[in-house]
Amino acid sequence: MLNIVIFGAPGSGKGTQSVLIAQKYGLVHLSTGDILRDEIAKGTTIGKFANTLISKGDLVPDDLIIKLLNQKIIEHKGFCNGFIFDGFPRTVTQAQALDEMLAQNGKKLSLMLDLQVKESMLIDRLIARGKTSGRSDDNLETIQKRLTIYHHVTAPVVDFYKSTKRFNAISNNTTVEDCFLQIEKLIDSFKLI
Ligand code: AMP
Repeated sequence: MLNIVIFGAPGSGKGTQSVLIAQKYGLVHLSTGDILRDEIAKGTTIGKFANTLISKGDLVPDDLIIKLLNQKIIEHKGFCNGFIFDGFPRTVTQAQALDEMLAQNGKKLSLMLDLQVKESMLIDRLIARGKTSGRSDDNLETIQKRLTIYHHVTAPVVDFYKSTKRFNAISNNTTVEDCFLQIEKLIDSFKLI
């Protein structure tokens, strides 16, 4: 059982690397951004509420996102090799809740991977993605707000994982392949322990 948090600023490549990790290690990819966009596409009450926040670059409340993620963990209980959590946790409260949710299901977090990318590169990548993603939050004004929230609210999550010795820094300033090589090395050496 391998449970991994992939962490990093908006545009750091979490989604791309999560897909590769899920494929190679047979993990279920749980992206809270995708879960919310699915609710928006279905036009649910949660989706309508989330849309007002996402399009402004704000985070959705902790209790709502924790509940949505817990439902997904329970849905897959017993049917997978583990999870890759993408876009969650984004607050220290969420990080603590993740440990509790996993423990309730007899699991624990194996690794936290922090994708580190230069700020200027993050903005360039998100602007480029905005040309094709159709996402309401991939425009300069909202990108800048998301980065500010990342630095103030989300970055402290790093200290939580450093203090519990599950933190691993991964540089993602070059290519998708180079980043994935670093991740494979880490996961493979973790599995040997
Ligand atoms: P993402 O696809 O991970 O970039 O997420 C898109 C947006 O969904 C974020 O900017 C937030 O508004 C919202 N969101 C996704 N995950 C979370 C989370 N763990 N906590 C709060 N809001 C979230």
